[in-house]
Amino acid sequence: MKTTLLAALLVLSANSYADFSQKIIGSETDVQDKDFNRGNMERLHRGHNEIILTFDDGPTPGVTNKVLDILKENDVKATFFVIANNAKEQPALMKRILSEGHIVANHSLSHHALKDLSFFSWKKTVKKEILDAHAILAPYMKNGKNFYYRAPEGAWDNKFADLVNQDPVGRQYIGPILWDIGGSVTQNDAGQYTQAADWACWSKKITVEDCLAGYLNESKKNKGGVVLMHDLRPQSAEMLAKYIPALKEAGMNFKTLDDIDWDSRK
Ligand SMILES: [Zn+2]
Repeated sequence: MKTTLLAALLVLSANSYADFSQKIIGSETDVQDKDFNRGNMERLHRGHNEIILTFDDGPTPGVTNKVLDILKENDVKATFFVIANNAKEQPALMKRILSEGHIVANHSLSHHALKDLSFFSWKKTVKKEILDAHAILAPYMKNGKNFYYRAPEGAWDNKFADLVNQDPVGRQYIGPILWDIGGSVTQNDAGQYTQAADWACWSKKITVEDCLAGYLNESKKNKGGVVLMHDLRPQSAEMLAKYIPALKEAGMNFKTLDDIDWDSRK
C-alpha cells in the first residue's frame, strides 16, 4: 500500500497533482462532470491514423442532405455542430441526422461570436448562446455519449467555462471543441496546398481539387485528427465525396468524437 502511494506520488508532477485533487473534489458534487476546459481545445486526436469528421454551421437545405448521402454511401458517422436557430427551421434534416446515427452537437444559438461582449451583459449572452441552444437541440442529441460545444470563430474565454459549469446541463458539456485539420489554407513554395479550410477555399475561389489536396496533406501529416468542414456550400459536399475514399486509401479509420478518451485529457 505504502509503496503504491509513493510510486503514485513520484510520477505526479506538482501540476498534475493539483488536477488530481480537483477531480476528487469535483466528483463529490457531480459524477457527470465533463467541464468546459481550455485543455480540450487543441491537438484533439493526432497520431492515431483516425479521422473524426465534424461539420459546422448547418443544417443547410441542399447541402446537409448531400453530406448525409455521402456519409451513408461510405458508411461513415460524423458530428454536426449545428446552429440551433437553423435547426429550428429544418426539423426534417435534424431528424435525418439523428436517424442515420450521427452526433448532433451545439454550435450556439445564433453563431454570435463570444468576443467584445459588454461587462454588463456577457453572462446573459453566453448562457443564451450555449444553454438556450441546448434546449432546442436536446431532442436530437440521443446518439452521442457526451454533449459537445464548438465556439463560433473559436472565440472563447475561460470565464465562460466557469459560468457554464455552474449550470447542471452546462457541466455535462465538453468544449469548446477545436480541430486538428481544416483550420487554414497554406501553400508550400511549389504552390501545393499543404493545408486547407473549406470556407476559405470557396471564398478565395480555390478549386475543389486543390482544397482537397490541402485537407489530404494535413490529414496525412498529422496522422489523422478531428476534421473541420462546413455543411454550408455544395463544394464541401463535392469535396467530401472524394476525401473519404482517399482517406480510406491512405489507411485511415473513421471514428467519432465519442471515441476520444476525454477523461484522460482533463
Ligand atoms: Zn461556425
